[in-house]
Amino acid sequence: MSTVYDAIVIGGGHNGLVTAAYLARANWNVLVLERRYIVGGACVTEENIFPGCKVSTAAYVNSLFRPEIIRDLRLRDYGFEVLERNPASFSPFDDGRYLLLGTGGPADRDEIGKFSERDAAAYGDYEAMLERVASVLEPTLIQTPPNVLHPSLADLLGMGKLGLKFKKLGTSIGEALEVLTGSARAILDRWFESEELKATLATDAIIGAFAAPSMPGTAYVLFHHVMGETNGKRGVWSYVRGGMGGLTQALAKAATALGAEILTDAEVARIDVKDGAAVGVTLADGREFRARKIASNVDCRLTFETFLDPRSLPDDFVAEIRRIDYSSASTKINVALAALPNFTAYPGRRAGPQHRGTIHLCPSQDYIERAYDEAKYGRFSTEPVVECTIPSAVDPTVAPPEKHLMSMFTQYSPYELNDGPWDEAAKNAYADRCFDVVERYAPGFKSSVIARQILTPRDLEATFNLTGGNIFQGSMGLNKLFMFRPVPGYAGYRTPVKNLFLCGSAAHPGGGVMGAPGWNAAREMLKAK
Ligand SMILES: Cc1cc2nc3c(=O)[nH]c(=O)nc-3n(C[C@H](O)[C@H](O)[C@H](O)COP(=O)(O)OP(=O)(O)OC[C@H]3O[C@@H](n4cnc5c(N)ncnc54)[C@H](O)[C@@H]3O)c2cc1C
Repeated sequence: MSTVYDAIVIGGGHNGLVTAAYLARANWNVLVLERRYIVGGACVTEENIFPGCKVSTAAYVNSLFRPEIIRDLRLRDYGFEVLERNPASFSPFDDGRYLLLGTGGPADRDEIGKFSERDAAAYGDYEAMLERVASVLEPTLIQTPPNVLHPSLADLLGMGKLGLKFKKLGTSIGEALEVLTGSARAILDRWFESEELKATLATDAIIGAFAAPSMPGTAYVLFHHVMGETNGKRGVWSYVRGGMGGLTQALAKAATALGAEILTDAEVARIDVKDGAAVGVTLADGREFRARKIASNVDCRLTFETFLDPRSLPDDFVAEIRRIDYSSASTKINVALAALPNFTAYPGRRAGPQHRGTIHLCPSQDYIERAYDEAKYGRFSTEPVVECTIPSAVDPTVAPPEKHLMSMFTQYSPYELNDGPWDEAAKNAYADRCFDVVERYAPGFKSSVIARQILTPRDLEATFNLTGGNIFQGSMGLNKLFMFRPVPGYAGYRTPVKNLFLCGSAAHPGGGVMGAPGWNAAREMLKAK
């Protein structure tokens, strides 16, 4: 008889590894089964893409990862190191001006003042507003949401406490509700007048969302991206030394040191169920593993419709699962460069402030709206929204000497194209459009390109098994947040199948390299009988 594990974790994404580590820390006998040759999921560094480069294939910046987990699992002892980016962002414009943000108080005000004195004065109040809303919402990230359909006494008390916190916001409660439900554009248009500032801030509202800033729900996406911190500094994003895999490799080492076993090249094909309870898994190659509890780090489509027979699940649950929106229009392009881009608005080929943070290449909110409009009708944008980062400008370990690595997060490139397949020609045509955008602001960029890797939503799906290429394992609209994620009645990491739990970003609090779903799920598994 082979080992019966205390727990099997399906998928070695960062959340699966967090779950495994916490369970192992409680002396559980844990097995992680990862489909790819490497753990990390969308938070990974790969060295086989460009020679000599450490490529953060998918996720590229960190801020959301919970500091409590870093401490608990002593991740710094296992090589996890963050590199702060100062400034945080650089936005060049067609008229030759630029906006550098995130250097800190007075410097930010001076930068914004170049475009609007009124906005410079308002910016501090805008940040304070976000801070007020965060004071209510952020603590919920590491809480198990209540069961809204069958609330326990503890759930009712928890909801009451949350209600009181909202009440303490006073008149700001309206702001909080707008952040949760409204459009980023309505908020930004009310606070500011300068398109340059608004476009820079609006990009956070559409990252990974198949939506334009004028659409309801985008305010929350924006907010989701400001809830993190680096070294205790709110909203500051960082690089991970050696690429994002520096985090997941540290997690894997921590989990292993605590006794967890990790198997790569181990693709789960089926969750085995006996008498309504999960008892183990069967791999695509036929290997079988048994456990008392199973945690799934993958999305709901895979967990409930591929690994299980949906006919064995309650109809109303399956109906809800099928309402999850996996649409995506984000393409990640990784680029090896012979030289740093030389921006017209801020010239220089040596690493400078213009290269260190996120480079926003979208001049106005209308530009984003137009880019979205085309994708809405099944075409990729003529002028895509392009956000670039150059980790090698801060971390020399990720590229060979004198060479650089650029990460381009681009939108919009819908999963389904109306006028043909996503073949190599279509991929290259879209990537060329993105490169044209960079070239416009940094002439000579295209001739500095050594190689590129293009990951459309279909490639993200094929590589990481993310349904639809959706970077959050399902959209992050209010109908899919907190007690509604992934579906009402099952937000507590439990599922209709006894002993089967969700531990990835399909569950509360959703996508991003945060670790919170994995941590919360481990807590619930340890409590479960
Ligand atoms: C292109 C892109 C850019 C992003 N940029 C950022 C960013 O800069 N910062 C940020 O915070 N977030 C970013 N995100 C979001 C973030 O990376 C994800 O939300 C997060 O990594 C999800 O982690 P997870 O552990 O929940 O799931 P995943 O990372 O999806 O992990 C799931 C794991 O399960 C494995 N798996 C799948 N199927 C099977 C199977 N059948 N058997 C066994 N294993 C299986 C997968 O290989 C994977 O390792 C980005 C995502 C993408 C795709």
